[in-house]
Formats: sequence, C-alpha cells, structure tokens
Amino acid sequence: MRFIAHRVGRQHQATIDRVHAAVDAAVDIVEREIRGCVGPLEVAVSNTSDMWRMVVDAHRPMFGRQNARLWQRHEGHAFGTTTITPGGVLVVINAQTCRGRGIEIDKTLLHELTHAVQFNRPGARALIMRSLANNYGITPMTEAEAKAANRQVDAEEREAERMERHHRLLAQSIA
Ligand SMILES: [Zn+2]
Repeated sequence: MRFIAHRVGRQHQATIDRVHAAVDAAVDIVEREIRGCVGPLEVAVSNTSDMWRMVVDAHRPMFGRQNARLWQRHEGHAFGTTTITPGGVLVVINAQTCRGRGIEIDKTLLHELTHAVQFNRPGARALIMRSLANNYGITPMTEAEAKAANRQVDAEEREAERMERHHRLLAQSIA
C-alpha cells in the first residue's frame, strides 16, 4: 500500500498520524466483514480542494478530462472519497472536514475502504468506468443505465455506512 500525505500543513498532522495508525487495521476489519479485498490501494490525506484535484488526476490517464469542479459541486463537504485509478483504487481522507474529529477519521476510513472493496469486485470497475464516462460527458448513459447505476451507488453507500459502526472495534484494535 502506498501512503501519500498530500500538501497538508502541520495543523493536520494529527489526522495524518491517525490515518497511518488506523489504515491497516481498518483494511482488516473491512475485508473480514464483507469478505472481499481492497486490491492495489493508495491512501492519501489532503484538504478539500486537493482531494478533488487528486480524483481528477487519477482519472486523467483514463479519460483525459480535467474538471475538478465537477466533483466539488456534488460532494464539496465530504469527509473523504474513493475512486478508481489506472492501477487500482485511491482513498482520500479530507483533513479539513475531519480536523479534530478522531471518530470521524476512523468512520471515514471504514466507509471509504468499503468502497475500495466494492470497486475491486468482479465487474465493478467496468461499471464505474461507464459512469465516469457519462459524468465527464464522453459517453452519455441511457435512462435505464443511469437508473441501474444509481441503484448500485445507493446500495454501495448503504453498505459503506453500515461499516462505520465498527469504529469502536477499530479504535480498540490500534489502542
Ligand atoms: Zn460513500
């Protein structure tokens, strides 16, 4: 696993330290709970605007598009985000929204790593590529495709939210 502390200042050191301390245990919990594998994974800590820049940087080799505002508009205040990269999955923890909120950092790790496992499931990557191509205006989805994609996202979101309740187990396992 690669860990990148991305352009965040000293005020975010506690968040970086917590992510370092918790990430391996969080991966173990998530992989055990939903019987999957996070696969090749990068974990980063950044502020809000760099978070969306990193997402777009990850997509650029696959889609050639550069508009970070596309993401910021939808999810500007997120605690974190997860997306596919050419080689695997990128999880970004938002140090700005998580600042001073240790439990939120643990919950966000569990939540986003659940998405990493989801994105690593057979067939998932092709569906995400399809949705991203739609979002970037490259290949529009049909109404039926968009509905199916939304249902998938909703189901994955519920699964990720359920994983957050294991934050006490995570805190205990790294204490
Ligand atoms: Zn989510």
